[in-house]
Amino acid sequence: ESKRLGSNEPCRCTEDMVQAIKRKHRIADILRSTIAEDGFQIHYQPIWSIPRQRFVAAEALCRLTSTELGPIPPAEFIPIAEETGLIVDMTYQVLDKVCKFVKSARDEHPDAPLESVSVNFSAIQFVQSDLAERTLAIVKANGIEPSSIKIEVTESVLISNPDTVKQLIMAMHEVGIQFCLDDFGTGYSNLSNILDLPFDVVKLDKSIVWMASERDFEGSDFLGHLVASFKAMGSAVLAEGVETQAQRAFIESCGCSLIQGFLYAKPSPQSEALAIIAGK
Ligand code: C2E
Ligand code: MG
Ligand code: MG
Ligand code: MG
Repeated sequence: ESKRLGSNEPCRCTEDMVQAIKRKHRIADILRSTIAEDGFQIHYQPIWSIPRQRFVAAEALCRLTSTELGPIPPAEFIPIAEETGLIVDMTYQVLDKVCKFVKSARDEHPDAPLESVSVNFSAIQFVQSDLAERTLAIVKANGIEPSSIKIEVTESVLISNPDTVKQLIMAMHEVGIQFCLDDFGTGYSNLSNILDLPFDVVKLDKSIVWMASERDFEGSDFLGHLVASFKAMGSAVLAEGVETQAQRAFIESCGCSLIQGFLYAKPSPQSEALAIIAGK
């Protein structure tokens, strides 16, 4: 129902919109206090290697829960963290926890084949000129090899200033940090900009994986060639969102070497994820 705000101008805000705005502000407050307490929870989703037939890596996925609102999905809080700029501090805290996870995995499970953990970075962070410096400082302070960390970015990182972005990525890549192109197949950036960057892994978005496993899908040859092309350029190809055996079989037939999906493992807290990766 519309309300009037004093004047005779009708307010176009419905009660739903008012509630949505209030919830957004509430979530921004929760993000602020979680940052103040360094209190983000992180779940790790194990990543399966097809050639090696075992888990080799994991993706860190940030979790936010409040006593008042319960669990808040990333699809809701990440855009708010981006709009408020809180994503910058949030990501450094997540990265620091991920480095500690890698370290404890090496210490507590020396036989665990965990090679790297990936962390999602937001496109808006790539306007920060100290991004590479601060990222490397966190990795170094934790005493882990930079090659244990993979940074995931989506094509949206390339929309505004590809030259600056390339410089930042190169600065981190040169010292050993790896990069993943996340959600590939959903963006609309210039292909030459993508091909110009050193992606160690290209992650096929789940929408492609799901579409490709439909009976009447006609793009299998195309996908096979696409995967082969990325491999020829030195990128491994990972399939996201693999939920069924049919999807797994299709993905294998396309030549993907890495799989991340509920069929293999769901995101879970640190100790559970480590046990899964260690095969215990
Ligand atoms: P993403 O980076 O593409 O992460 C993969 C998402 O797919 C995760 O959702 C994961 O739980 C989900 N997933 C994995 N396997 C399957 C499957 O087999 N089926 C289905 N239906 N889903 C699957 P989640 O954790 O809800 O995260 C959503 C998005 O939020 C992430 O997509 C990422 O873009 C963003 N996000 C999460 N954590 C962070 C973070 O720390 N920083 C930033 N910047 N973004 C984050
Ligand atoms: Mg990701
Ligand atoms: Mg993804
Ligand atoms: Mg995604």
